[in-house]
Amino acid sequence: MTDAPFASRPAAEGPAPRLVLATHNKGKLRELRELLRGQVPGLDVDTQVVDAGAVDAPDVAETGVTFAENSLLKARAVAEATGLVAIADDSGLAVDVLGGAPGIFSARWSGRHGDDAANLQLLLAQLADVPDEYRGAAFVCAAALAVPGSSPDGGREVVEYGQLEGTLLRVPRGEGGFGYDPVLQPSGLDRSCAELSSEEKNAISHRGHAFRALLPAIVEALSGK
Ligand code: IMP
Repeated sequence: MTDAPFASRPAAEGPAPRLVLATHNKGKLRELRELLRGQVPGLDVDTQVVDAGAVDAPDVAETGVTFAENSLLKARAVAEATGLVAIADDSGLAVDVLGGAPGIFSARWSGRHGDDAANLQLLLAQLADVPDEYRGAAFVCAAALAVPGSSPDGGREVVEYGQLEGTLLRVPRGEGGFGYDPVLQPSGLDRSCAELSSEEKNAISHRGHAFRALLPAIVEALSGK
């Protein structure tokens, strides 16, 4: 891929990026770098695994109706635009008694995209009368990898999934995390996700599971370049 826009930068700028994560979220980038550290011979994760901003990757509209579709849309578009192997994730909260909602609408459940506090309050109000034994829910993540030049059926796209199962609390707890973290208590723990350190959360998170499942495909895609 010598004609890739970011593969032929002057040496003074450091090694060229080889893998782009379609996000502006630094926490997700850090998580992916730690996962990949030492896994691909010759890959310097700190300089060659980058986020969307580092390579001017486009923001991609999430027009799919599943986590997998949305993650693939993003990975495919970013791979084509940058000429780099691209990874994207899409995630949300799936509540049992709501049939999997808010699901892909998690970030805008209250009607305003990204209003975490309003989304969480609406969800708690909707579930106010639901007994404890029916308050099961899970964070769900699809992580997709696309190699530039892939076609949808060309076999160079991979999607993997991860889940973090738990129970929805009635009152938010904890100051950490984001989104619905203060109301999801992972199975087997007595703390909400917002009461876990980022290391504890990453070790069990839906995104961690999905990224780890994608690792063999990432290693293969980068080793073949
Ligand atoms: P995104 O896929 O990172 O854009 O996440 C979509 C939405 O799902 C977020 O805005 C949150 O509302 C929710 N969400 C996804 N992952 C998490 C998590 O780990 N904790 C809390 N909320 C999450």
